[in-house]
Amino acid sequence: MNEDNLRLRIRNKILTRELPSQSAFKTWGGRATDNRCAVCDADIAGTNEIEAESADGQTRFYHVPCYNALCAERQAIGIATTVSANSAE
Ligand SMILES: [Zn+2]
Repeated sequence: MNEDNLRLRIRNKILTRELPSQSAFKTWGGRATDNRCAVCDADIAGTNEIEAESADGQTRFYHVPCYNALCAERQAIGIATTVSANSAE
């Protein structure tokens, strides 16, 4: 998936609330535990994952680059909150 497709996908998912529009309440980084990435819908197995508890109360899992793209996209469309979610870095 190229970067433009990924960004479009993220925007659509934010609009449909599949992805949270606000920064995560809590994030953890760690080894993949066979979850599905909330951004690209692919399995995360065999790599590192980001686990994020969102302001909407749901916990989602992400590939590290997908999570970074999600954060960047929120900022790009001006809906990022001032709450920092950099603890996963
Ligand atoms: Zn992904």
